[in-house]
Amino acid sequence: MHFDLIVIGSGPAGRRGAVQAAKLGKDVLVVDKGRRVGGVSVHTGTIPSKTLRETVLNLSGWRERGFYGRSYRVKKEISASDLLNRLHITLNHEVEVLEHQFARNRVTTLTGAARFLDPHRVEVATASGERLTISADRFLLAVGTCPHRPDHIPFDGRRVLDSDQILEMDRLPRRLAVVGAGVIGVEYATIFSALDVPVTLIEPRPAMLEFIDQELVEDLVHQLRDRGTTLRFGSKVTAIDTPADGPCIVRLENGRVVQADMVLYAAGRTGATASLELEACGIEADARSRLTVDPRTFQTSQKHIYAAGDVIGFPSLASTSMEQGRLAACHAFGVAAHEAPRFFPYGIYSVPEISTIGLTEAEVRQQGIPYECGIARFRETSRGQIMGLNAGMMKLIFALDGSRLLGCHIVGEGATELVHIGQAVINLNGTLDYFIQNTFNYPTLAEAYKVAALDAWNRMPRGSGR
Ligand SMILES: Cc1cc2nc3c(=O)[nH]c(=O)nc-3n(C[C@H](O)[C@H](O)[C@H](O)COP(=O)(O)OP(=O)(O)OC[C@H]3O[C@@H](n4cnc5c(N)ncnc54)[C@H](O)[C@@H]3O)c2cc1C
Repeated sequence: MHFDLIVIGSGPAGRRGAVQAAKLGKDVLVVDKGRRVGGVSVHTGTIPSKTLRETVLNLSGWRERGFYGRSYRVKKEISASDLLNRLHITLNHEVEVLEHQFARNRVTTLTGAARFLDPHRVEVATASGERLTISADRFLLAVGTCPHRPDHIPFDGRRVLDSDQILEMDRLPRRLAVVGAGVIGVEYATIFSALDVPVTLIEPRPAMLEFIDQELVEDLVHQLRDRGTTLRFGSKVTAIDTPADGPCIVRLENGRVVQADMVLYAAGRTGATASLELEACGIEADARSRLTVDPRTFQTSQKHIYAAGDVIGFPSLASTSMEQGRLAACHAFGVAAHEAPRFFPYGIYSVPEISTIGLTEAEVRQQGIPYECGIARFRETSRGQIMGLNAGMMKLIFALDGSRLLGCHIVGEGATELVHIGQAVINLNGTLDYFIQNTFNYPTLAEAYKVAALDAWNRMPRGSGR
């Protein structure tokens, strides 16, 4: 069998790359070792964690607590099966959509693990035990990442779990310890805390989410502490004991211990390149098993082998992975593609959610740009009042010279949707005037843009900006 393009991995990067190549009239094969197409994004990452979050917010009545108090719940007893039922319905639907997309675009799919035999041939070990040798002119490696599982952590899938295993939990924890205050750790810690599970968040570094504007992180930390989440920062986990007759004991380097009946270990991910046998095609992975590519073309050191998605590292988002896969396929088949805009949004689906685009205040300062910030609290908008929001804020950063929008940072309800207004203004080089001169729907949370812009304008020295 021979194809124009073999894509290894059917997550966002592989899927978009495959469909793009098929739309260019190419013969495309997608190989994935998972039981069904979709990758980490559909089966263990983006979609499951967001479905779980939505289910928790709905069943717990979280969004109504501003009016009815902290003890308000839509469903009194929430079990693990309540959470997982909805998950399975959503995932099945997502897989069907993907299978249909592949079929519609005449992309061939094959279930099996691929490994290189030489730079133009792979062997695919299928579930039925067959070993197929398949060749192609070009390859797209979109194999993603797997949870980092250090040897000293006693993963057992029941009491000590990684972020894949948490989706198979058979009961909700009474007390949860989350190791790793990166995006995944923070998302799960806050989701469980919204279910009133006492959570301890452990992070070896002294701070969390350092790439996010720190004023938002302070707001998040304040909200987490307010609802009883314990933060143990600045000390590594040295061991986790799992005695049969008591809770798990997480031991920290500084001598402190954290007790919990479930531990979620979410401290990093590594590239899933080990099984590809890359030496056969002449590519090397780095120390974290990731691949290096030309950031413009997505070519590896072998020009006919492309890589995209989480396996090439930052920013490791489903959204950016899709675009990388598409750009890689365009380059592979000689189609000119636009250059990606400099700024893309980052969404963290914690409770409350965070979304951000552009420069943080620290970055603006570092670059020596004279600036002013404007802040809006969601409770200052009529929609916020109607929704009973007592938290949530938007921070806009404008350059003093010309009043261009440099950064848009939001924490609170709807942040991941609201951010796209800021994205449009930033990427179209818009200024503070956009927010002042345009009429917005009323009542909406988007009005916060106007409030924040006016706040910044009020602080700006007269004669600058507008
Ligand atoms: C818990 C969690 C939450 C997340 N939340 C978000 C979010 O809210 N928003 C967001 O944008 N991103 C989120 N992400 C990140 C997002 O899931 C990834 O960016 C995205 O899945 C990366 O896509 P990918 O195409 O690189 O491959 P992946 O989705 O990682 O898929 C890789 C596929 O390759 C297959 N594969 C690997 N090796 C082989 C082989 N040798 N042969 C055949 N097949 C192979 C695997 O089976 C897998 O199906 C989250 C991730 C996690 C873990």
